Parts: sequence; C-alpha cells; structure tokens
Amino acid sequence: MKMAFRGTNVPHHVLYPHMNTILHWFTTDLRLHDMPSLHAAKDANALLPVYVIDPQSDIDTIHGFPRIGPIRKAFILETVYALKEHLQTLGSDLLIVEGSPEIIIPKLVSIYAVDRIHVELPFASEEIKRIADVESKITIPIHRFESRTMFREQDLPFALDQLPDIFTEFRKMIEKACGYAIQSCDDSPLPPLPIASKDITVQCMGQHEEHIVQADPRAAFRAIGGEIEGLKRLHYYVADTHAISTYKETRNGMIGDRYSSKFSPWLALGALSARKIIESINAYELQYNANESTYWMKFELLWREFFQWTLKKHGDAFFRAEGIRGKKQDVKHDPQLIEHWRLGNTPDTFVNANMKELLHTGYMSNRGRQNVASYFVHNLQQDWRIGAAWFESQLIDYDVASNWGNWMYVAGVGNDPRQDRVFNTKKQADMYDPDGEYQDLWLHDHMAKNEH
Ligand SMILES: Cc1cc2nc3c(=O)[nH]c(=O)nc-3n(C[C@H](O)[C@H](O)[C@H](O)COP(=O)(O)OP(=O)(O)OC[C@H]3O[C@@H](n4cnc5c(N)ncnc54)[C@H](O)[C@@H]3O)c2cc1C
Repeated sequence: MKMAFRGTNVPHHVLYPHMNTILHWFTTDLRLHDMPSLHAAKDANALLPVYVIDPQSDIDTIHGFPRIGPIRKAFILETVYALKEHLQTLGSDLLIVEGSPEIIIPKLVSIYAVDRIHVELPFASEEIKRIADVESKITIPIHRFESRTMFREQDLPFALDQLPDIFTEFRKMIEKACGYAIQSCDDSPLPPLPIASKDITVQCMGQHEEHIVQADPRAAFRAIGGEIEGLKRLHYYVADTHAISTYKETRNGMIGDRYSSKFSPWLALGALSARKIIESINAYELQYNANESTYWMKFELLWREFFQWTLKKHGDAFFRAEGIRGKKQDVKHDPQLIEHWRLGNTPDTFVNANMKELLHTGYMSNRGRQNVASYFVHNLQQDWRIGAAWFESQLIDYDVASNWGNWMYVAGVGNDPRQDRVFNTKKQADMYDPDGEYQDLWLHDHMAKNEH
C-alpha cells in the first residue's frame, strides 16, 4: 500500500478539537456539479475528499483477462486526476490512495478525526458490501447519497419491489407520473471546501501519465476524462452542433463522433450527471423545438435509468446464468471460441470489426454491441456472463447496471418480453454498413492486423 503521512506527530483531533470533519469518499460520482452530498457538507469546517484505488480491481478475472483493461483504467485515472485538479482550483484537493478501502478509510477517519462520511449510494452488491465492510470498522456514520440516477427512489411512482420488469411498462408509468420534469440539479455555488488539514500530506500513487495509452487514430471519438470535458461534450452535442435534433435518424451509425451522443463514458464514472443532461435537453426544447430526436435521447436515458433500478431491485440475480428470469441455461465454455471473439478473429467480419474497435478504443456503438453480444450468445452459444465480463474489462463506459442488464436482455434471461431475439449479423451488416466502410476501417488497416 502506497500511503505515507508526513508532518506533525500530534493527533489531528488534539490540534483541532472543535472541527466538524467530513470525509467525502468519491467512487463513481467523480464530479462537483449536481452533487447533493457536497451541498449536504455545508456544516463541515473541514472536508476531506478521498478516492481509493482498490488493488482488487487489478486482479485478473477467472476467465484469464484483467478485470479492468488498460484503456478503461487510463480513462478512470484521467477522470480521477481531473477531479483532483478541479478541487485544487477551489482551494481543496483530492487524496488519492491505493489500498483496500476497509483499511484506508478507517485509517483516515482516525488520523483526521473524521465525524462522518459521505458516499454515493451504490446499487450493486459488491459496492454495497465494500461500504458495509468499512462501516463495520468505524464508529462514525456513513451517509449515502443518490447521485447516479435522474430520479430519486422516493420520486418513483411505485415502490421498488413493484418496479415493472418490462421497460415499456416502466416508461409509461414514469411518463404518466412525472415525464422528464425531474428534480432540478442544485447548481447553487458549492459551500467552501476547506481541506481537512494542510499540515499532513498524503503521498498519492504514481501520476496517471504512467497509465496513458496511445489513442487509436481510427477511434469514433476520444473521450477525455473529467467533468469539464463531459460538460463540454454535452454542450457540443446539444447547443453547439444541434446534433441532438437529428439523433433519432443518426443513432444507429457506427463511424464518427456525432451519430450518437457519446455521453456514456462520463455518465459511467459520474463525471456527468444524468439530471444535467435531461435539464440541458429540456432547455434546448424550450429554446428551439422538441422533436422526435430530442424525445428519443430522453427515452434512451430512461433505458439507463430502468437498468439502474432493476439492478437495485434484483441484486445478485444480475450476475447469475439464469438472470432475473430464473431461466435455466445450458451454458458452454469453449476457451478458443471465446478468445477468437474477444480479439475479433471469428468467421464473421462485421462482428470482428466491432470487437477490434472495442479492443483498440474501449468503445463500441450500440448497434455493434447488440450484434456482437447476440453472436456470442446465440451463434457461439457461450455463457453470456463471460461476454459481459469482457465488456466490463474493456469498455470505458462500463456501467454495472447497463452492461449486465443489456447482456441479460440479449441472452433472453433479463427484461426482454421476447425470447427469440437473435440478430442476423449478415443482414445487420448489409443494413448498417452497406459499403463495408466500417469493416474496412477496423479490419483492413495495418494496426488491426498486427495483433493477430
Ligand atoms: C451488450 C450491451 C452492453 C452494454 N453495456 C453498456 C455499459 O456498460 N455502459 C453503458 O453506458 N451502456 C451500455 N450499453 C448501452 C449502449 O450501447 C450504450 O449506452 C451506448 O452505446 C453509449 O453510447 P452513447 O452515449 O453515444 O449512446 P446514445 O445513443 O447517445 O444514448 C444516450 C445515453 O442513453 C443511455 N443508453 C442508450 N442506450 C442504452 C441501453 N441500451 N441501455 C442503457 N442505457 C442506454 C446511455 O446512458 C447513453 O449514454 C450496452 C448495450 C449492450 C447491447
């Protein structure tokens, strides 16, 4: 564990007996806008923002590839360091510490005499357990804040155990009850964020430059981590280019940076809030026009919302072969077939092109994801969870609910009312890549051939 404390030997609570110190544990809420947890810290005399890099996330999966691949890891670190810089401009800072949270956080609580902890409310069991493990080692309270979804649980027009398992039913209930008039973001200035102590320095792990990977020039776009870049992308897509007003027509594209919003990498790490995006679309509709495309973007964001709440409702069923349907699956595991699929060396060129885009950039279009997942599950007949784990390793926009929820859906064990949704990848290629331009880009390039 690379953590070293320098400075005075006198305990912090002896030096500062009347402090009200809040430790803000950032996880996947790496931003300062629309953060109820920061506004709720206004009574603090001292705030200690912390990010913990858990070495557990570096270990390989049982499938023999890293849980977090190099491109995704670089994006996460870029986002974390952007947050650190942002906090520094406000006179605060971010302590970035490598180690197990259940050791690090209690240690910080003791050193800084922390009175309470603020953290994002997690929906997935592993993250829920991580916080519970920390909680069991300390005596101060941990306050959990909802900052991932556009609705708070109390705003949903049903109790969580009544959440429909069919998206259309969910959408209709939401649109009838509240539409997209969500609780607005709290954009009032942040309270002062006095750093807990200037006389103690925490040595951060190595700078993120070490982890930067070279961007592939063929990438649809280059996502730069951090909320400032996320907000810039929002502004670019909505106000600058008006690309939002043609989203419904372009969303099935596969090349370039405008066919879809590319909000997902920032959303995944919380560098952009879903509420902020909805607010921005609502404002655009007021100023210009609401049309099918502006509606469709909200509709897609509602899919994201749906998977978040479905994960909260069903918990661990998300990660079982039989999914939330409890449907017995005859799962296969052929390491060679899986390897060919992962590296884009199957007999199907459309699938290969998409898999290479993922491997080299950490991103793939929604059209591509549906095809390669269907191919993995239905053509290769492999265990959908291995496909989901590969996406988890590679995607810079990896989101536990959206990823595992979509994979379950494709595998027929999730929220899809239809059981027979199999993509014909040849037909899909003819329809969405009629001139083979996309396949050329990813298959007939010296860089792509090199890694065979
Ligand atoms: C097998 C599979 C795995 C996926 N894994 C992820 C994942 O790990 N993280 C992730 O964010 N998305 C995932 N998606 C959903 C979708 O493909 C991506 O959200 C989308 O391609 C991101 O690009 P974009 O931001 O330009 O999307 P846009 O088309 O511009 O959509 C705007 C936003 O709506 C949301 N959205 C759109 N489609 C979906 C969907 N089907 N499910 C949930 N939310 C959606 C996303 O937040 C997205 O950023 C997955 C889809 C499939 C089929």
